[in-house]
Amino acid sequence: TQELHIVGGGMAGSEAAWQAANMGVQVVLHEMRPQVETFAHRTGNLGEMVCSNSFRSDDDEQNAVGLLHWEMRAAGGLIISTAHEHRLPAGGALAVDRDPFAESITAKVTAHPNIRISHEEITTLPGDGQWIFATGPLTSEALGAAIQAETGADRLAFFDAIAPIVYAETIDMDVAWLQSRYDKGETEEEQKAYINCPMTKDQYESFIDALLAADKTEFHEGETAKYFDGCLPIEVMAERGRETLRHGPMKPVGLTNPHSPEQKAYAVVQLRRDNALGTLYNIVGFQTKMKYGAQTTVFKTIPGLENASFARLGGIHRNTFINSPTLLDDRMRLRSRPNVRFAGQVTGVEGYVESAAMGLLAGRMAAAEILGKDMPTVPQDTAHGALIHHITGGAEAKTFQPMNVNFGLFRPLEGLKGGRRGRKDRYKAYTDRAKSCWQDWLAAQG
Ligand code: FAD
Repeated sequence: TQELHIVGGGMAGSEAAWQAANMGVQVVLHEMRPQVETFAHRTGNLGEMVCSNSFRSDDDEQNAVGLLHWEMRAAGGLIISTAHEHRLPAGGALAVDRDPFAESITAKVTAHPNIRISHEEITTLPGDGQWIFATGPLTSEALGAAIQAETGADRLAFFDAIAPIVYAETIDMDVAWLQSRYDKGETEEEQKAYINCPMTKDQYESFIDALLAADKTEFHEGETAKYFDGCLPIEVMAERGRETLRHGPMKPVGLTNPHSPEQKAYAVVQLRRDNALGTLYNIVGFQTKMKYGAQTTVFKTIPGLENASFARLGGIHRNTFINSPTLLDDRMRLRSRPNVRFAGQVTGVEGYVESAAMGLLAGRMAAAEILGKDMPTVPQDTAHGALIHHITGGAEAKTFQPMNVNFGLFRPLEGLKGGRRGRKDRYKAYTDRAKSCWQDWLAAQG
């Protein structure tokens, strides 16, 4: 049978290789390190964690990333089981002893009879054979250029510019209101596509003070900060002048506050729908390098967001990723070149765990295709399914930015709303539903 080529031996590529090899497919894993280095990796090991040593929460009943851990374990995941073998005490989080972890991943993959490792940089998208590209946020320059040539320059980003994302249900609609600027749009839905949060002059001035004073993160060494005019961090805009934001993303024009129509807002923060389900909204133009703690403090001073919960906070990083909603089909194949799949962070998921999870799916899908086996669609109500559905279809393509797994990506459940207890029950119900769907999906593959 045909070989499967996997490019990149990080979280996603190692997992994809493991899954496909365990299904009986011969895998060639192409990894450019240590010959070609990145600014973040330090070793030639597979599965190297480049920054934090945390796989985040391991709680599979109340946390979406914990649920992803559970699903990966149930699927015989290499990354998650090895993480557990090298676990460090960290309360509810899964912290990992990074060097033994990566050494162990390298040893297991190297010893697998169906996997051969080839240390080389791949610089083109091949026209035939079965391939998975899992080259991560630091995809090599030559390959980045080849991907751009295939997809068009505007479909491959080299930096992410993530605005914070808020759970819609935690926005106070007694303060905020739904309206597009100048009521633009054909349908009523389009005319009400944005959520608006009004500010008085005093609130705006204090907000600017807080932005200027907030703790910010620096770019890593070697990670050059190239800002594009369309995506300056808000604190940089505020540094350019106290009025800059009021004439930029916070301009109060074309909007009427139905809660107090006679009083004109001095500035307005707008939130835009982030997924088809309407459960998530991003704060328009609010990409930021503020530290996470500072972000929650500063953003909760915005009227209407006092009790907001964030599905993810903002950031700007060196990050190569493709516009998956337009480029990939629901099996992670490049529409223009179906022998090529993408997996991991380069598909627009974010984080070690999410990347490994997308590798797990891509590895199984590619192996099934090679073996001529039927692969049922990944159920949308699982953590894996919610993520793959988001990147290949559910997310807004025009404003697509990398995403962590979170319960906002899950289809809502009826009749479980309100309050802290309500939320606990709802998360438990999400995770119960997910586990049962995931087990059925695994069983269907034999
Ligand atoms: P990677 O793990 O990066 O693996 C990709 C592999 O492909 C690499 O081994 C690379 O050498 C190889 N490669 C690239 N191009 C080629 C080529 N042309 N030919 C052959 N091989 C190639 N995530 C977190 O969860 N927590 C964090 O704290 C965190 N911090 C980060 C800090 C930095 C500076 C960066 C850049 C990323 C960080 N991330 C973090 C994101 C993290 O990189 C991903 O979560 C995860 O490593 C992605 O897995 P991956 O398999 O998609 O990519």
